[in-house]
Amino acid sequence: MRLRPLALLVPAALALLGSTARAEDTNAAIAAAAQAAESKVVAWRRDIHEHPELGNRETRTSALVAKELKKLGFDEVHTGIAHTGVVGILKGGKPGGVVALRADMDALPVEEKSDLPFASKVHMEYNGAQVPVMHACGHDAHTAILLGVATVLAGMRDQIPGTVSFVFQPAEEGAPEGEEGGARLMIKEGLWATAKQPTAIFGLHTWPGPAGTISYRSGPTMAAADTMKIVVKGKQTHGSQPWGGVDPIVVAAQIVQALQLIPSRQLDITKAPSVVTIGSIHGGVRHNIIPDSVEMTGTVRNFDEGIRKDMLARITRTATSIAAASGAEATVTIDSYGGGVTYNDPALVTQMEPALRAAAGDKLLNSPLIMASEDFSEYQQDIPGLFFFLGGNKEGVGPGQAAANHSPLYFVNEAALVPGVRTLATLAVDYLQQKAPK
Ligand SMILES: [Zn+2]
Ligand SMILES: [Zn+2]
Repeated sequence: MRLRPLALLVPAALALLGSTARAEDTNAAIAAAAQAAESKVVAWRRDIHEHPELGNRETRTSALVAKELKKLGFDEVHTGIAHTGVVGILKGGKPGGVVALRADMDALPVEEKSDLPFASKVHMEYNGAQVPVMHACGHDAHTAILLGVATVLAGMRDQIPGTVSFVFQPAEEGAPEGEEGGARLMIKEGLWATAKQPTAIFGLHTWPGPAGTISYRSGPTMAAADTMKIVVKGKQTHGSQPWGGVDPIVVAAQIVQALQLIPSRQLDITKAPSVVTIGSIHGGVRHNIIPDSVEMTGTVRNFDEGIRKDMLARITRTATSIAAASGAEATVTIDSYGGGVTYNDPALVTQMEPALRAAAGDKLLNSPLIMASEDFSEYQQDIPGLFFFLGGNKEGVGPGQAAANHSPLYFVNEAALVPGVRTLATLAVDYLQQKAPK
């Protein structure tokens, strides 16, 4: 190795020092602005929490979002994408690239059991029935946090090199029966024509964990989720004379057992974990009638697209072959609307780790693999993305004690809101600064 002449080394080191100092100044300014926005973010979150709306029906929420973005002086605010989606474009004062930030806005058909003064009392129609509705997955916090980021970045737009697109997405939890929705529909409806396609996208999810902690991992992060429906067709007969027909209940029982042997006996479990679950099974009306058919539904989870394809093929083969062996017939239908693997681009993760550390400090943690799924994965099909988790436990609630997402007792600590705003805002600005023309 040759030593470079000192004359060349010193200006380079000074330039590096200068840019580090600039980044520190920017991070401090973001942290202060996030803190200053806290009361607004808390108010938005409580308002949205008290008025939850189901997927594709987020009309009040999206109107609130659009109104606030316009108030902040956004250059463009587009509404009505994928039913109720909103996209706000904030152009910085300096030339540069494009980055996107995403929040989801939909609630769930869950009856809130919390004692919060702003607990939901809302009912809405869901697949033909009136149901209680609750923000049981924290999307109220995600929407409020992203509005907080909009506030912070609008206040420092002169210093931002490039454009930030704010994506407020409907129906992350899935669309009502017979409808399309979510990230996939936003993309299909031309999201990246409305907002210029970004070169990176960031998003977060509230999750059980100490309040304000940021957890992340590189590569596969959340599972792919496929929904399956298996219909076993037999032949109806009297319960006392099974030989007179084909019993689909016994066949269905064999299929349920055999499906469990796919992850445990057939797949290489050293590559990535996978799960298959039958969650519903219906057949028959009476103790002494062997019914004509049985219907089962279930979910398939894994962390690798190759394993996903292989698993689905094995499920179909197992169900149809077992049915055929008994003279019955099984049809397997797979609905992949739940999305693929949420995959954090390793290069992007490495690139953004200093920004994560700057924003989260000693509250930065490694995330385990999460078997739940996220339709953030839809954006990551085309754009490198980083999706991370924001801890939201109540004070004194330890690991494993917090109510899970989708529980009627799901809780988001408001102390997590500012760390959420700070981290997303820091990621966006740091990314654009790295991309900025020198
Ligand atoms: Zn959820
Ligand atoms: Zn969620």
